[in-house]
Amino acid sequence: MIPADHPRYRSLVIRERMAAFAREGIVSWEGLTAHGRGEAFDYLIGERTTDSARIAERTAAAMLLCARHPVISINGNTAALAAPAIAALQRACGALVEVNLFHRTEERVRQIEALLRDAGVTVFSGTAEQLLPLSHDRAWCRREGMYAADLVLVPLEDGDRCEALVRMGKQVIAIDLNPLSRTARTATLTVVDELTRALPAITDACTTLTSREQAQLLDSLDNHYLLKKAMDEITARLSHALD
Ligand code: ATP
Ligand code: MG
Repeated sequence: MIPADHPRYRSLVIRERMAAFAREGIVSWEGLTAHGRGEAFDYLIGERTTDSARIAERTAAAMLLCARHPVISINGNTAALAAPAIAALQRACGALVEVNLFHRTEERVRQIEALLRDAGVTVFSGTAEQLLPLSHDRAWCRREGMYAADLVLVPLEDGDRCEALVRMGKQVIAIDLNPLSRTARTATLTVVDELTRALPAITDACTTLTSREQAQLLDSLDNHYLLKKAMDEITARLSHALD
């Protein structure tokens, strides 16, 4: 029997919830496999926030607070895992929250927006257009929302779309447990941490950063260095895993 406060117990409860959300149509079947990949990397990282992730989270807060027009992009997995945490982050940094889906139907967009609103998020909806340079449904976004953003926070993002946003000249913050993914390597900043640990940490940093620390973090931002540190932490953990 796994004790109720063990991270593995938590992940079993979350897995049940993700399956329920998939049955409702909020999480796509593909989203479930992406969740499993995230779980595997979280195992390797030790189901905790590493030192380098903590720096990345504080840097993410500094970037969000400095941005002119920050937008948080939400997909089915993010809404299912963390709608209340998105509401808290929105209150702390003032970003727009917009739904953007790989497997897009009007019905799914409506369901996910409703889930977010129920959790206290102010959702930026309105008419979407095919504005991003992508061939699939993730091209759809709002002209005054993501299209106009100078910074986009993309939790659990796909590599193609991350690349497209960077090519459009936007700053991109990714939250991705896999430091080797195309998203992690393409983003301006990658937070290698589990979504439900990362979002509250970024929110907390939004309210505790001094302007001095904010300037220091922005000056020293080096995503390659942070990804390398994340890999070092995984490697160190693996080399002692059987001790
Ligand atoms: P890429 O397209 O960037 O190369 P990919 O094709 O391997 O990545 P996607 O399904 O496109 O993966 O993106 C989902 C990413 O989200 C995966 O890298 C996965 O590890 C990560 N992920 C899944 N669940 C979580 C979570 N709860 N917290 C943080 N990251 C997660
Ligand atoms: Mg992908």
